[in-house]
Amino acid sequence: MGKIQVLDTVTIDKIAAGEVIERPASVVKELAENAIDAGATAIVVEIQDGGISLIRIADNGCGIAREEVPNAFLRHSTSKIRSVEDLVHIGSLGFRGEALSSIAAVSQVELITKTGEQTFGTRYRIDGGRKVDIEDTGARDGTTFLIRQLFYNVPARRKFLKTPMTEASHVGDLMTRLALSHPEISFQFINNGQSKLHTSGNGSLKDVIYHVYGREIASNLLRSEFSSQGIRITGFLGKPLISRGNRNFENYFINGRYVKNQIVSKAIEDAYKDFSMQHKYPFVVLHMEIDGEGVDVNVHPAKMEIRFHNQQEVYNRVYEAVNKGLHAEELIPHVELDA
Ligand code: ADP
Ligand code: MG
Repeated sequence: MGKIQVLDTVTIDKIAAGEVIERPASVVKELAENAIDAGATAIVVEIQDGGISLIRIADNGCGIAREEVPNAFLRHSTSKIRSVEDLVHIGSLGFRGEALSSIAAVSQVELITKTGEQTFGTRYRIDGGRKVDIEDTGARDGTTFLIRQLFYNVPARRKFLKTPMTEASHVGDLMTRLALSHPEISFQFINNGQSKLHTSGNGSLKDVIYHVYGREIASNLLRSEFSSQGIRITGFLGKPLISRGNRNFENYFINGRYVKNQIVSKAIEDAYKDFSMQHKYPFVVLHMEIDGEGVDVNVHPAKMEIRFHNQQEVYNRVYEAVNKGLHAEELIPHVELDA
């Protein structure tokens, strides 16, 4: 064994990137969440080769002031929280200050950004965590990131990437979830020059569902509205007859965040049990608001996991909400059940 040494920041960022950035879709997730946090009303994501050679994401949010730009790429630098206490009432999707430093460590980044107060925009380039240059540029208000050659300097990671087609489909799924989680924001997704998704941002969740899943699903939905003991649930429940063969159609968002959680999935599935055939999974799009004290989002760097302070309580409320929604239309167990 050699001498014990503190690692340099570029190496630290490269190692940390492994936790946040797994594939092109993780880059898009982090940058789109930043755009949402920046108050954008329109977000355009464009990828080439599954996002491996290029990811371009443009928003019309608040922009980053010139003097702040280099800081944004420092590890643990964030404008969103000041202390751990802020996490309880977190209103933003980001808070760890890790995404930009991680992405910059493992790709070639070009950022063009302008705030409403500035006359000129800023162009900043950073390769493998090392600043290349910063200069004035003409730009509209908002922020555009170009991420080139993801993992060009981490061959081990690059080897684990799947085909461009598979990577693109991961990005596509993510774009769908983003659009469903924020109907008030227009999302466009362009894959190799072809527009794959373009939502209006008119605020109607049903319009987004129609756009993404088509008419058959959109015309077989029950509206869900529920509020009880610190939990509010709104959205749509698919009628049992449109249940699917896998869990991919269980979309739920907790405090604006797409998450996967066993308790919530189980509550939804259990509530559907009386109505659906075995081995079928429900179609749902549910937005849940849970008071800050009841949920911990700081479980993992990717922020896909959350913990509830009272799991049984969450299970009961979600079950109740779905059960009520399904009974609202006096649905008798579907005839398919007896077949
Ligand atoms: P976090 O989102 O956890 O704060 P990030 O590394 O993702 O950390 O971003 C660092 C900071 O850069 C953010 O806190 C924000 O101030 C700024 N930022 C990043 N992306 C954007 C954007 N699209 N528009 C405006 N500001 C941004
Ligand atoms: Mg972020």
